Amino acid sequence: MNCPRTDSVQQSRVHGPRDPELEIHAGSCDACRAVIELSPFFEQLAASSLDASIPDARMVWLKAQIIQSRRQVRHVQKTLDVLQLLPWGGVALCWAGLIAAKWSQILASLQDFSLGRFLYLSFTGGSALPITLIVVVLGLMTVTAGMALHSILREE
Ligand SMILES: [Zn+2]
Repeated sequence: MNCPRTDSVQQSRVHGPRDPELEIHAGSCDACRAVIELSPFFEQLAASSLDASIPDARMVWLKAQIIQSRRQVRHVQKTLDVLQLLPWGGVALCWAGLIAAKWSQILASLQDFSLGRFLYLSFTGGSALPITLIVVVLGLMTVTAGMALHSILREE
């Protein structure tokens, strides 16, 4: 959609006088009609950009400071995200170590499991899982749940 007469049509529209021959051409030419329809928008845009003043140096400096501090915050946030993996790794290692060390006891107690017998034997020091193991498991569960809650609340 090109026309060699769009500049002439534009000039006669903006600066006048309007050439009747160009007006007739513009009525039948898609390119010239599009230029005529869009020219008020571009004239308005040009006028508004001429009125635009140079921003205050203090505002530019403040915006630069804000952008820089946001970058620093993002950098620290990324570092914290990586550091937060360490406690998760520690908890996972504790769980793995606990299960590996007490696997035979866990299997034996699960083979004929009944909650009442389990609790009775645990607290009386019988052959079920020892109370120290239960305390360790409950402690690990608490730490894991706490870390999960911390992660969830931190993301909100
Ligand atoms: Zn044309």
